Amino acid sequence: YHGFGNEAVIGEKAEKLFLSVPDEDSAIAASRAYATHPHIASSKEDFEDSKVILKLFQEEFNILSPEREPVFPAGTEASRNATLNIAHLKEPTAWIDIYYPVMNTPLDRSLQVLGDDGKSIWDADLVEDGDPLDPDAAKYRDAVPTFHGLSKNGTAEGQLIYANYGTKEDYDELEAKGVDFTGKIVLTRYNALFRGLKIKGAQERGAVAVLIYSDPRDDGIVTVENGYEPYPLGPARNPTSVQRGSVQFISSYPGDPTTPGYPAYENATRTEGENIPKIPSLPISWANAQRLFKEISSSDARILNGKSSERKVKLVNHVDDKVMPIYNTLAVIPGHIKDESVLVGCHRDAWVMGAADPTSGTVSLHEIIRGFGLLVRQGWKPLRNVVIASWDAEEYGLVGSTEWAEDFSDWISNNVVAYLNTDVSSAGSQWGTSASPSLANLIKQVALEISHPTDAGRTLWDARTDVGPFKAGKGDEAVMQAFDAKQAELMSSSTGIPALGSGSDYTAFLQRLGIASLDQGFGPTPFDAPYHYHSIYDTQRWQEVYADPGFHRHVAVAKHLGVTALRLTDAIILPLNTTEYALELSEYLEKIEDLAVSLSMDSSVNFHSLRHAIHKVQVASAKLDNEKAAAEEDFKKKLSKLPKPGSLSHNRILLWLRKLLHHFPGISDPIREFIKAAKRVQATNAKLVAFEKGFLHEDGIKDREWYRHLGVAPGKWLGYGATTLPSIYDALVYDEDAVFAQVEVKRVADTLEKLAKTITP
Ligand code: GLU
Ligand code: CA
Ligand code: ZN
Ligand code: ZN
Repeated sequence: YHGFGNEAVIGEKAEKLFLSVPDEDSAIAASRAYATHPHIASSKEDFEDSKVILKLFQEEFNILSPEREPVFPAGTEASRNATLNIAHLKEPTAWIDIYYPVMNTPLDRSLQVLGDDGKSIWDADLVEDGDPLDPDAAKYRDAVPTFHGLSKNGTAEGQLIYANYGTKEDYDELEAKGVDFTGKIVLTRYNALFRGLKIKGAQERGAVAVLIYSDPRDDGIVTVENGYEPYPLGPARNPTSVQRGSVQFISSYPGDPTTPGYPAYENATRTEGENIPKIPSLPISWANAQRLFKEISSSDARILNGKSSERKVKLVNHVDDKVMPIYNTLAVIPGHIKDESVLVGCHRDAWVMGAADPTSGTVSLHEIIRGFGLLVRQGWKPLRNVVIASWDAEEYGLVGSTEWAEDFSDWISNNVVAYLNTDVSSAGSQWGTSASPSLANLIKQVALEISHPTDAGRTLWDARTDVGPFKAGKGDEAVMQAFDAKQAELMSSSTGIPALGSGSDYTAFLQRLGIASLDQGFGPTPFDAPYHYHSIYDTQRWQEVYADPGFHRHVAVAKHLGVTALRLTDAIILPLNTTEYALELSEYLEKIEDLAVSLSMDSSVNFHSLRHAIHKVQVASAKLDNEKAAAEEDFKKKLSKLPKPGSLSHNRILLWLRKLLHHFPGISDPIREFIKAAKRVQATNAKLVAFEKGFLHEDGIKDREWYRHLGVAPGKWLGYGATTLPSIYDALVYDEDAVFAQVEVKRVADTLEKLAKTITP
């Protein structure tokens, strides 16, 4: 191993060299280049940006730009070869894949309060004011109207009814009080669950449309009520800001609505989208919402729950549904081991400017690419392949990553050892990460070695408890209590790193294909300037003034993600800690047992088989740990006994090994011993990778069979938040069916028994 590459760029030396690259000035320059034009998926600007990333790959990785631009429609031979030939690459390469999902763009929309004669007495403006302090404002103010991606085209008329966050609990509680949603237009506020699920809940109860507004009650302490000026004059929320966003039913399946489970080629056979609303919706501002509150007899949202308006409201949401080309840019740095790849990715499309979402993540990726570029140019050849992806159409529903994952599911299953994601890398003060438990130790270790972005005496890991610069005052007790409770919960878990739910591009890799994954970035706390998520105010100016002055956070994420990737690519034994995962399963079980007790179903569901299976996984993983250590030691020992290869290149050494062995069959010599040790390492790594896949069951989770991971899924009525042991959870909570829950306990137990067998050395 140590003779195979350039001695100057392996192990710690490679990390050091890498860490010398990510840099604030470069990050700011990259951000200014990306975040100062709109780039909604499939737009001309988005296609241009996909090529800007392509060029970055070509320049950094010394890829000769081919005569014809490598832009390949998915499903063509060129596109298929690009991914399937990764094992045969000798030099780095980069290309663009085009997929063809059905998505939509806004045409026109309106929202009116109707008088008795059916004529409008108030028309919502449905626009965001813009930022007179921003020289670029004219370019983007009206670039992408306020609408919901994948929303239903149509018109609706009905009385308004207020339903808080539109959680399942909100709806159930109101129904229990006798509220009838039939024929109504539901007014809900953002947060608590994925927006599409608010609409699903309303639709299932007979509502005809949904409005979702941004409520300053969800903005922490930095509000106008607390004396802060709204953006752009101050840090509080601009009252005209609107959160665009996809309304797909994320917990059913992500990706192109018309090709669930298979790739959206141009000529794909398409089904009726089952993961999108059948009723129209609009996102609206706090300013517009306040006018609607008056129709529900109060100007105070706190007392509106379940109340209806007398007057009717009319909503028009005209969108253009069509097949839209989207562009994933990918690059590969080939490694020595041909069938093991580490995948790193971030999406590139934004609703408007997206300085935080996703430009901050894309900028962090940009710095990683520059760092890896230096390594490549210094002669670094990673042990495993590095695959880097700039996904498109994440905003419409994780479309670019999901379609690629569906296209190359076999290749990914057989080759990808881990997926590292970032999306928003900087939108506030607190560093957060969620991951497969097998990656938790690696994430923590690296975070302890990277210094804190702004406080030299601390580490990035410490930034998990950071809060924003604004100080709470009298009247903020409730906000502080809720925040403290959330932090305490985070800190109480054994790793301090929660499970992945959904809402970004790791979903297909983790929850459908069983690839260990992580996500990370800096997010806002209640003491930060409110994040104007998916609005026109997510701009470069906001980023430079409030989210990350000096861009230290962008750089910290780049360093963390880059070093994590390097350790995964270059370690002899993959740094996947299956025992951490196995132990965490006991916590998953404890949680679901507590749940059964709280639902008074504990006497009818027996968890014994699952407890037993988890125990078996733990025992098997402990054995695997021993084998990891032994295999690595054996490998190093046998390596040291090899004849010194001198200056021969890796490939020539291999050739030489093979020839020698061929000439002397049956001879026990250092070379044969070394090859045996290498195979032992390979088999051990295969088991480590098999661990996460061991949770997959081909039948998936009931009612959302696209999701196959029985360990973790996006909560059925959460979307963003994770549910562990989801098939059992759903059976208990949503089906309220103890018999079915028992069936699921058995299925999970059987799956884990198999997992235990698979990973036993
Ligand atoms: N991250 C985007 C959002 O939260 C897209 C997620 C999705 O639609 O799956 O709106
Ligand atoms: Ca698909
Ligand atoms: Zn994003
Ligand atoms: Zn987004």
